[in-house]
Amino acid sequence: MTDLLLTNIHQLINVRKHPELLKGEALKELPVLQNAWLQIINGRIADYGSMDICPDATEVINLNGASVLPCWCDSHTHAVFAASREDEFVDKLKGLSYAEIAAKGGGILNSAQKLALTTEDVLFEQAKKRIHELIALGTGAIEIKSGYGLSLEAELKMLRVIKRLKDSLPIPVKATFLGAHTYPALFKEDHESYIDLIINEMLPAIDHEQLADYIDVFCEQGFFSVEETMRICEAGKRYGLRAKIHANQLHLSGGVQAGVELNALSVDHLETMDDAAITALASSNTIGTLLPTAAYFLRMPFQPARNLINAGAAIALASDFNPGSSPSGNMNTVVSMSCIQMKMLPEEAINAATLNGAFAMGLEKEAGSITIGKRANLIITRPIPSIAYIPYAFGTNLIDRVLINGKLVSSE
Ligand SMILES: [Zn+2]
Repeated sequence: MTDLLLTNIHQLINVRKHPELLKGEALKELPVLQNAWLQIINGRIADYGSMDICPDATEVINLNGASVLPCWCDSHTHAVFAASREDEFVDKLKGLSYAEIAAKGGGILNSAQKLALTTEDVLFEQAKKRIHELIALGTGAIEIKSGYGLSLEAELKMLRVIKRLKDSLPIPVKATFLGAHTYPALFKEDHESYIDLIINEMLPAIDHEQLADYIDVFCEQGFFSVEETMRICEAGKRYGLRAKIHANQLHLSGGVQAGVELNALSVDHLETMDDAAITALASSNTIGTLLPTAAYFLRMPFQPARNLINAGAAIALASDFNPGSSPSGNMNTVVSMSCIQMKMLPEEAINAATLNGAFAMGLEKEAGSITIGKRANLIITRPIPSIAYIPYAFGTNLIDRVLINGKLVSSE
């Protein structure tokens, strides 16, 4: 039994006995224990309390007034990819349109082409390194999607990489099958055959190797229609895969309503929303996952977080880490940007990036709050005057140390 005690914690943030999905008003409440200790046994949170009565332990770390919060739970990433795409970034800066970049072989198909040429081992090593960097930035649970494969063989390769990451990383990893990310060149004129491939070949093979936890579809004009999204997600459901959908990014795609009808775990993006979509989401248990760094990188309007929260929706925040539209998985940036650009309150943003993020991965029993029995995946801050300082001091590294399963992570 290993036993570690953190003492003199200025603020122990997001302390909850019975964590529940936070909707609307409830997002504002971020429970904090002042001047606290936290006990960790066998990598899990064993107990906590006020410094007035402090227990003994084999190993003690005196935090001298630093604060502690649960690690970020990043519920939407595409962290397995073969190559960065800064050439396209520069092309866009020079004024090339999306269509022109696509014509030059850019976009998702560019990632797919490079992925096809990269071995499983190389993909694994690259992604592992990337995620270790994110852990040092405070990410303590992560979801990763396939979707740069777009063929049976390459989708399986991506999902096998994610499975290896699950087995080798110290943080919980969830795998989402996103075969319906776009249409590969081969099926450009024959969408029905690609959907057939997803449903009748990819899904059974993925099920056979138990490679996915969730299914995702890019529901968007020019990509997958509502009807196609429903059909693919219903097929996924037959294999036990609940939906997490890319919805309402570029247009009012109907993806939000489709997600609600499918009882999706989450509908993600939500840059383009109207009252009907907001009302539908708010009256459901589907989580709206906002990806502000993608809106920022694409210079799109930010997600209407305030309207969603005021309507009573459950909101999570995630990085959408991917080489095309959000080449950063830094959740500290995501939290800051949510306050600065979407007017989320610091408490709301922290809740959305921790507990609700955990719910958006089905990891609410493992991560996302200071709760007895959960993994001790914790951010130890540098001395900060208040919780609001976390999003306020954007771009400043406020993380002193990160604990994963109760062990200190080195940022080397
Ligand atoms: Zn995405």
